[in-house]
Formats: sequence, C-alpha cells, structure tokens
Amino acid sequence: MKVYFDNAATTAIDLDVFEAMKPYMLEHFGNPSSIHSHGRQVRTAIERSRKKVADLLNAAPAEVFFTSGGTEADNTAIRCTVSEKGIKHIITSKIEHHAVLHTVESLAKRGIKISYVNLNDQGQVDYDHLESLLKSNPNTLVTLMHANNEIGNLLDIEKVGEMCKEYSACFHSDTVQSMAHYTHDMRKLNLDFAVGSAHKFHGPKGIGFLYINHENKIHPFIHGGAQERNMRGGTENVYGIVGLAKAMEIAYSDMEGHRKHIEGLKTHMIEKLKSTIDGIAFNGVSDDLNNSLYTVLNVCLPPNDDNDMLLFNLDIAGISASGGSACSSGSSIGSHVLAELNRDQNRGAIRFSFSKYNTLEEVDYAVEKLAELYQPETTSV
Ligand code: PLP
Repeated sequence: MKVYFDNAATTAIDLDVFEAMKPYMLEHFGNPSSIHSHGRQVRTAIERSRKKVADLLNAAPAEVFFTSGGTEADNTAIRCTVSEKGIKHIITSKIEHHAVLHTVESLAKRGIKISYVNLNDQGQVDYDHLESLLKSNPNTLVTLMHANNEIGNLLDIEKVGEMCKEYSACFHSDTVQSMAHYTHDMRKLNLDFAVGSAHKFHGPKGIGFLYINHENKIHPFIHGGAQERNMRGGTENVYGIVGLAKAMEIAYSDMEGHRKHIEGLKTHMIEKLKSTIDGIAFNGVSDDLNNSLYTVLNVCLPPNDDNDMLLFNLDIAGISASGGSACSSGSSIGSHVLAELNRDQNRGAIRFSFSKYNTLEEVDYAVEKLAELYQPETTSV
C-alpha cells in the first residue's frame, strides 16, 4: 500500500486542473506580451485567471500579481514594503516559514529592528505582547503566518488585522497553507499582503500569487519587462496561471465537503493513535480542531532510541510523511518550529498532512504501521 500523507509539502495535481492547463502547453503557446492573435489569446487566459482568483478572494483583479510561488510572494511583500514605506521595525515570530524568517533576518543585517512576538508553550501568539510591541514602535510591518506549515496552528488574522489598523502598521500574512482551504475575504480582512501557492491546493508547482491591497503602492522585486502591470518582470508561466486559477476554483466549489472529509480523517487518526500508542501527544495545538489547520496533524511520540528511524521505517512501509517543515520533507532534524515549543526534544515528531484524496483506510494503515514500528523505551530494553 502506498500512502501519501505529506500534503502540506505538496499536493497531487487535480486531473481537471491538468486538463485545463494542457491547451496552454500545446496549442496556445504564444507570448502574452505579443500583440498578434497568438499572444492576445494567451493574454486573455491570464486576465481571466486573475479575475477568477480575485473574485474568489473578494478582491479586485488589479490586486492580484502572479509570482513563481509562495517564497517569491513573501520576499516581494516584505522587502518592497521595507524599502519603500519607511519601515524601521518588523514584528514576526520564531516559527514562520523560512521564506519569511530568512528574509527578515537578511533585513536585520541592514539595520531593520526585528521583534519576535512571544509564543506560548504550544506556539500560539501572545496577542497582548503583539499589541505592546505595536504600541511602542511606529513604522512597523507585521509578518505573521495564518497557518503554520509544521504544527498547523492558526493565527486569528481578523484580530491581528484590527490591531495593525489601530496602530497604523502594515500587515503581511503568509497564507500559503490556508489559501484555498479556507475563504479569505479581502474586503473584510485588514490585510495588506496575502500569499497563495498553487501546489498546496492541487495545482501545479512553481506558480503562486501575491495579493496587494490597493492602498499599497510598491515597486517590483524582480525587475525586467512590463509583465504583471510592471510589478514582476519575466514571461508569465501561462499554464501555471491557468492551473492555479482552476485549482482554486475547484477548491472553492466544494470547500465545505473537502473540509468535512479531511476533518474526519484527522479526527479518526487522533482517536486511533490515542487508543493504540500509550503516551501519545500532539505538537502545537494540532489536535485542537478549532485552532489548527484541518489538513495537519503533528504527532509527538514518546522517547525511543529508534525515533530517528521513524520516518525511514514509515517510508519502507509505503507511507510518506514528514518530520520537519514542508520544504525539508523527510527530515526530522533541526525543525526550528518544534525547537520553539515547550516539548521534550527526545520525543519523536511526525507530521501527517491530509488531502481530499486520502481515505480512512489509509489512516488505519498508517496507525497500524506506526504502532508496529513504535516500541516504547521501557519495552525495548
Ligand atoms: N510559506 C509556507 C507556510 C509554506 O508552507 C511554503 C511551502 O512549503 C512556502 C511559504 C513556500 O511556498 P513555495 O513552495 O510556493 O515557494
């Protein structure tokens, strides 16, 4: 049996997405910047896709800019805001994705002051501390992720948006893991920047977008041609853009159905694990359905000499899961997120992340294999 439980790293492409992309790989190959009919046809497809994405976000098409993915979108939002809006101070957290964390660290070397908001033992943001940081620092950019890719913790982005409004701070949220899994109403959320990456919701890899609220005027991060209304140079990834819009449309068309199905898998896994493995726990708040991504369950296994081999052994059993971040799939070494939690670092950690394609049988199989592999320290002497 082959089981894929690493959907926070990337998802399988939806066949309908692939079908939508195909004509733009084969027939409609024109350069969208060309003014002849081959080019115009492709330009129309890009603008139709932009409108589709904007409509789903309750945003204007002029607020959506296609990028090569989440990393580029995060970099663009943070770097351009700092350089162009007189930002002197960034508030972030120690458990952001490296696309944010490393960007912020590089800005610190150029003299930008960085404050890390306090987190509780489970990695949840201390909102009072956030407010006190906002109060005492003008010209601030807040960059806090909506959903953590490793432990699934959700941020109250409505609340943070309101705080940022009150203290006139810019707010960027890395929404890569929540985009197209939850609705984001850009007219209601007080967000300056949000981010999407198609491969996290059954679209193609190498394509994403940056939402820039119309009140923000920033210049390009990637300089070149006049593509993306002068905001991002480089010939557009046309079939990627078409695929992203299609994937997002499919996700929104039955979001509640997918959510119910996936929540069912997660709940089932929590219950099975609790009844099968003594001393099982969960990292972050990933077992709290109201405060975590329904797609992620980060399991905390009691200390064991063979914990380093857990992922490898699951892999041998045909189960793909992850120990660390999405982008270092397959490795449980050195997770900067787990290191920030108040947990016994001798315990094993496995992130199972689900999609609409997973089944209850797969959950049963994974728990069974984990129970077989897992030998508590006391019994392995
Ligand atoms: N932000 C988060 C929270 C992610 O999980 C990822 C990917 O794992 C990224 C950003 C980077 O996105 P991309 O792979 O599209 O560059």
